[in-house]
Amino acid sequence: MNNFEFKNPTKILFGEGQIENLSKEIPKNSKILMLYGGGSIKKNGIYDQVKEALSNYEVVEFGGIPANPEYSVLMKALKLIKNENIDCLLAVGGGSVIDGTKFLSAAALYKGDSPWNLLTDNKPITEGMPFATVLTLPATGSEMNSGAVITREETKEKLAMGGPGLFPVFSILDPQVIRSIPQRQLANGITDAFTHVLEQYMTYPTGALLQDRFAESILQTLVEVAPAILKDPADYNAASNFMWSCTMALNGLIQQGVPGDWAVHAMGHELTALYGIDHARTLAIVGPNHYRYNFESKKVKLAQYAERIWNIVEGTVEEKANIGIEKTEEFFHSLGINTKLSEYTDEYSETGSIVSKRFTDRGWTGLGEHKTLTPSDAEKIIEMSY
Ligand code: NAP
Ligand code: FE
Repeated sequence: MNNFEFKNPTKILFGEGQIENLSKEIPKNSKILMLYGGGSIKKNGIYDQVKEALSNYEVVEFGGIPANPEYSVLMKALKLIKNENIDCLLAVGGGSVIDGTKFLSAAALYKGDSPWNLLTDNKPITEGMPFATVLTLPATGSEMNSGAVITREETKEKLAMGGPGLFPVFSILDPQVIRSIPQRQLANGITDAFTHVLEQYMTYPTGALLQDRFAESILQTLVEVAPAILKDPADYNAASNFMWSCTMALNGLIQQGVPGDWAVHAMGHELTALYGIDHARTLAIVGPNHYRYNFESKKVKLAQYAERIWNIVEGTVEEKANIGIEKTEEFFHSLGINTKLSEYTDEYSETGSIVSKRFTDRGWTGLGEHKTLTPSDAEKIIEMSY
């Protein structure tokens, strides 16, 4: 096991009715900027619940953060933060609103020329304006981690940032919010969380026994609740298990002491940036082929995964590992997720080389858990995904 330091300072308020407790967590004299997305919270009642809970505060609002939070939109919110002397941010939404809020938390204190440098500098963010979240869509784990992914339409880029200064102070997780989530987003949430676990688990060498069991238990729980949550998102028990699984998939716990891959996300982000494909779907397109391409180095872990998640007990390591990949793809299909790039866009024929060039230009010459996956490998994996 590798050495590690682990601190996750985010307080979680989990369960039915927790939105009411917002006022217990935010200092009384705060001036809050409440951030949200395209308006789903106004239709499902979450907006009213939050406003009611904040009735004794001065609250400024900024709505309209799009899925894949867009830099130019966030820059308008940054102006508001400065003009209105905001001292606390509250994200009410899914990963996009939360990530956008994290960017703003860092940008509000940033002293350099352009806040876009926060995404290109590759420096850990050590300070930000305090922010909290009311999660409306389980998927990303952003509610309990310190990472964010921001899109810039102008340059068709989607880049990540993060650091110890970007943990939410607290996050409210009320599984009742899941009732209004459309099937497409439920399927995305399951797929994103499942892939987050795989990025931290499907690595080599093996040997971190407890981290493996933590990771496998999250994968098993997601497989178990997926049909129930898709059938009835108002099923509170399924919803609470789904929600907590997504948070635990990416709050730091399972990544301690083990190498992380994250090449599937790096390639997936390019497909979103180029074609606007939902984040989770890009992972389902790239993920299985990433494991096929890196079969030799990952086959022992793939076989363990096949045994423990999919109960494949017969066969050689190679046979089990192959079935593990097939089962993963079948699982995504069972959620209604297509796994070929050509099912999303007709303009796919140059994608591999475009992504390879982008990685080279950014100096991303070695991705994956051992920094050995080259731009040319990424090109081949993406070509396998057409
Ligand atoms: P999202 O982009 O935040 O939201 C997707 C859609 O779901 C939006 O149209 C949103 O509508 C709607 N929605 C949200 N909650 C709803 C509810 N309760 N009822 C009905 N509709 C609802 O989706 P996401 O998957 O959570 O976030 C994806 C983003 O997170 C991507 O940019 C991805 O790259 C990033 N990400 C971040 C991390 C991380 O660790 N920080 C990890 C993985 C991915 P409204 O706009 O109207 O609210
Ligand atoms: Fe993700």
